Amino acid sequence: MNRYESTSAWRDVDDYFIEALVSEDEALVAARESGATTTMPNAEVAANHGALLGLLVQIAGAKRVLEFGTLAGYSTIWFARAVGDDGNVITLELEEQNAAIARENIARAEVQDRVEVRVGPAADSARELIDSGAPPFDLVFIDADKPSNPRYLEAALELTRSGAIIVIDNVVRDGAVVQPDTNDARVHGVREVVDDISRNPGLEATALQTVGLKGWDGLIIARRK
Ligand code: SAM
Repeated sequence: MNRYESTSAWRDVDDYFIEALVSEDEALVAARESGATTTMPNAEVAANHGALLGLLVQIAGAKRVLEFGTLAGYSTIWFARAVGDDGNVITLELEEQNAAIARENIARAEVQDRVEVRVGPAADSARELIDSGAPPFDLVFIDADKPSNPRYLEAALELTRSGAIIVIDNVVRDGAVVQPDTNDARVHGVREVVDDISRNPGLEATALQTVGLKGWDGLIIARRK
């Protein structure tokens, strides 16, 4: 059985666990469904992954979250709810169209008081945060254009302190991460960021493969020592 043949089983299992364990209210459902109207349809994390992100925030006691790649604000809402009303989330998005959709979703979820959507190339927005001396973030989620992963990790290291968590999404890409002859810049962005993490003695990290509603993919979870 290859990975494509098992896709419907993966979906069934995700559906089972999401129905049993993950509480999505109307605002989260609306945000997820509105992903279809963005410039990158259906690229939001699955509900069980959103819940994982929220749990990571709470396990780490994170109060300040920085997100690279907002889309319709689905993961942003998970973060905003997890940081609580005394926390805050800054999320960076290239496309004004997506940012507008995200702001609507964030308002519907009633977390607009703690979320800022910054529009523009995320590398520039992150540079502005660094230059303005932004207080350190406790958790950074890297989920924008994959070729820029190494730059985003570099920025995340400037914007966090010891103990911070850095999560990088979509690092498996149907197994392409280990296919030798690929010209896919997104895969190269993953491999370069893996190399950067492995060479950085200030980081401890692991990567997990995932299967489910979003196919075969995975994420890196790193922690600053
Ligand atoms: N984190 C979102 C979620 O799970 O709900 C999904 C983000 S989607 C995978 C990637 C997003 O990154 C898209 O909205 C895309 O427009 C945005 N993006 C792409 N290139 C970017 C860049 N250079 N700077 C900022 N955002 C970018």
